[in-house]
Amino acid sequence: MIVYDLECENSHSFEGWFGSAGDFEKQLASKLLSCPMCNSGNVVRRPNASHVHTGVAENALREKQKSSGVSVPQQYANISPEIVAKVIEHIVKNTEDVGNKFPEEARKIHYNEAPERHIRGTASPRDVASLRDEGIDVVSLPIPPHLANKTH
Ligand SMILES: [Zn+2]
Repeated sequence: MIVYDLECENSHSFEGWFGSAGDFEKQLASKLLSCPMCNSGNVVRRPNASHVHTGVAENALREKQKSSGVSVPQQYANISPEIVAKVIEHIVKNTEDVGNKFPEEARKIHYNEAPERHIRGTASPRDVASLRDEGIDVVSLPIPPHLANKTH
C-alpha cells in the first residue's frame, strides 16, 4: 500500500491509498480519482508525499498515530472500508506501540536519538501539529479498539 497526497483543482488536499504506484496511474488515467470534498475529477499528486525517512516499500505505513474511536475520515473516501481495515491491521502488526510516548519517540527517531523503527501511539492534536512543524510526519488512523491494544 502507498499513500499519496493529492489535490484537486479547487485546492482541496486529501490522501489517496493505492495498491501500488501503477494503481495510482491507472486510476488517474481512467478518471476514477475524484476529490472527496467537491467531487472534481481534476486531481493531481502533490510533490510532497506524506511520508519521510524510510527505506521500505510500505513507507506510508510508518509513524502512525492511533486515534481510537474516530470513524474513517473523508480523505480515505476513494478506498473501501475493507482495504482501510487491512491497512490498519498491517500497521498494527508492523509497528511498535509506544502509547502516549508517541510524540517523544517520534521526535527521537527523527533526530536519530532512537533506533529507526515504525511506531504508533497516541498524540493530542497539539502534539501532532508541533511534530508536523518540526517536519516529522504523522498520520492519524482510525485503529479499532480490538487492534489498538494488541502487542506482538
Ligand atoms: Zn475538491
